[in-house]
Amino acid sequence: MKVILIRYGELSTKKDNRGFFINTLRKNISYKLNGIDAKISTDNGHMYIRFYDNDLNKIKDVLDHTFGILEYDICSVCKSVEEDIFSTVLNTINDNSFNTFKVETKRSYKGFTLNSMEMSRKLGSYILKNVKGKSVDVHNPDLRVCVEIREKESFVYYNSYKGLGGYPVGVQPKAFAMLSGGIDSPVAAYLAMKRGISVSFVYFEALPHTSLNAREKVINLTKKLAKYSQSIDLHIVNFTEIQEEIYKNADNSYTITIMRRMMYRIMEEILRRNRGYAIINGESIGQVASQTLKSISVVNNVTNVPVIRPVACLDKLEIIDIARKIDTYDISILPYEDCCTVFVPKHPVINPSLDKAIEYENRFDYNSLIKKAVDNIYTIKITDNDHDFDNLI
Ligand code: ATP
Ligand code: MG
Repeated sequence: MKVILIRYGELSTKKDNRGFFINTLRKNISYKLNGIDAKISTDNGHMYIRFYDNDLNKIKDVLDHTFGILEYDICSVCKSVEEDIFSTVLNTINDNSFNTFKVETKRSYKGFTLNSMEMSRKLGSYILKNVKGKSVDVHNPDLRVCVEIREKESFVYYNSYKGLGGYPVGVQPKAFAMLSGGIDSPVAAYLAMKRGISVSFVYFEALPHTSLNAREKVINLTKKLAKYSQSIDLHIVNFTEIQEEIYKNADNSYTITIMRRMMYRIMEEILRRNRGYAIINGESIGQVASQTLKSISVVNNVTNVPVIRPVACLDKLEIIDIARKIDTYDISILPYEDCCTVFVPKHPVINPSLDKAIEYENRFDYNSLIKKAVDNIYTIKITDNDHDFDNLI
């Protein structure tokens, strides 16, 4: 058996909520470890997962997609006896992976024969003698050889693995992210999840003007993001009638502005019905006409709920970097059009006026269509398992 030792990072600064944060992290990890024979425990400042060697890669994959972890160590376990610790090091050290090393010993079991300094020195000499061609560098070693000596057992581990940081998903209440098929909104949703928010997704589609391929794209993006959370609810809104009315009734240059105001109204109603606390979207200031500060302000004017825009101040290239890292980029660039791109006007207004937007909206009563759209939402629960798309629609 091996043990993974998890360090929490930012989470450990939350004094009063500490227990809740750690419990949430534990629940998130054990949900994802479903089917793997592993045992989770905690003590002050650490979480431990005991597991069988064969499952190492699966468990690493889970930890690499879980927020709230600063770093983790993969430890071999042995008796707290000098010879056992030495032989464990010799059996587990990978001599191709380093030229220089340093030994770090932590000893919480004071009954052990050597103190930390003595143990580090002795183990260092032992490694020099038994692993050829290596030298010690205490300042900048290629490999840290770490030994933690406890009363019942000792841990041997090497360089730590970096976690994603952030807070465990679920320490904040629910919010709803507007997910289009583009590059920006999955990144925005990811960043919101990283702050511990339980995110559900909302996708506006305009069948038959948009295709089922566009829907499939959004489902596949949701699957990617579900790696970072338990299951995710994807709410699909039929936006066709509203969009068609907008095109009949508003000046062409204002259609995007009004469409976005309608989306926000629908979002607000979804929040109200589902106890959501915020809207999250992928707007990035200045990226396109509908995202100038003036446009954002005219669109935002329809709602009082918090609208969080995690990528508002990022450059496109910075957003793309994250999209690549979270593996959504290749899906996002597939060419299926969403409802914004299908209806995009030739010359969208860059600095819309609020009065004009309201004037165009007053030409038709959208309320019943908004209610109908929310009443008829179609919801799919998505996990990161490989679902068959046909079973989901
Ligand atoms: P993205 O790359 O995320 O598609 P974008 O640069 O194409 O963003 P817009 O189309 O102006 O920008 O949309 C801005 C934001 O509004 C999106 O990031 C997304 O959060 C939301 N949004 C746009 N279209 C839809 C849609 N069809 N369904 C859900 N949300 C949408
Ligand atoms: Mg888009």
